[in-house]
Amino acid sequence: MRALILEEPGSIRLQETAIPRPSTGEVLIRVKAATTCGTDLKAYLRGHPQIPMPGGFGHEYSGVVAAVGEGAPFAVGDAVMGVHSAPCQTCFWCLRGQENLCESIMATKVLGSYAEYLLIPERIARINVFPKPAALSFEMAALLEPLSCVAQAIELLRVDANDRVLIMGPGAIGLMFVAALKHLGVGEVVLAGRNSARLEVGERLGARTLYNGDLQPEGRGYDLVVECTGSVEIWERSLSFSRRGGTVVLFGGCPSGTSASFDTRRVHYDQISLLSPFHFGTSAVRTARRWLMDPNFDLSPLLSGTRELEDGEQVFRDLRDGVGLKYVFQP
Ligand SMILES: [Zn+2]
Ligand SMILES: [Zn+2]
Repeated sequence: MRALILEEPGSIRLQETAIPRPSTGEVLIRVKAATTCGTDLKAYLRGHPQIPMPGGFGHEYSGVVAAVGEGAPFAVGDAVMGVHSAPCQTCFWCLRGQENLCESIMATKVLGSYAEYLLIPERIARINVFPKPAALSFEMAALLEPLSCVAQAIELLRVDANDRVLIMGPGAIGLMFVAALKHLGVGEVVLAGRNSARLEVGERLGARTLYNGDLQPEGRGYDLVVECTGSVEIWERSLSFSRRGGTVVLFGGCPSGTSASFDTRRVHYDQISLLSPFHFGTSAVRTARRWLMDPNFDLSPLLSGTRELEDGEQVFRDLRDGVGLKYVFQP
């Protein structure tokens, strides 16, 4: 089968590899759609602690079951959607309702969806892979993983329709926050950034948009500020837009080894809640799947077109240059 291999930062190769054979409980998927992700772009640009190289990459997918191991929960021909990790459900964190922090969730994740086939390990197939309804396209179904990250953050919040929300960063995650918050009935969602094409997508999803340069702390401030850039400078700046008693979600992971500093007076006397959710547990995955299956929830403005595996390197160069948001490989 053909698979994209990330050899080292800046180098992607299309390689012929053996089609994996599923053993007990495993499911082999013929990939129908695999979407690009900011994590993959980070890995391509500067390496990533969770993405070993050289190796297959891509972790967002949907497809059709091509082969199953004994006792697997699906049959050949089933259309499926899923995520690339699953909690053990027995460790300290899992038992305390923090499955996203499961001690083995990262060690047991699967990468390599930019390929014709993807082998899903037993635990993931059992817990976090689902039938894909016919009404949901393979492209949209592949967005289950990033949307689960957004659902995880939203599950930690008490979102109110009257909230005024500021999203900082119009990348795919910032735009998914816009879509999810609008879907939950939030009236005022403001999206700030500097890429006009991406801000335009935010408008189509229902946000009011602002260029970074026009973004100034004003009035009472926002009830909720969601940082989606992974930039230390924006992490620090985000607090200045929160109202007294507001919440700031620091969503984007910053480069390792960096630190951020805050005005302690604001955090304490203005009682600003800081949250920094990581990854997702099973409940967030189910919430995200429910959103995707709702015909009124439409993430299609986020997709920038389909690409061949042969174009792998060009796709990531485009993403690096801010051209497009999320491309779909149809291997
Ligand atoms: Zn992703
Ligand atoms: Zn666990």
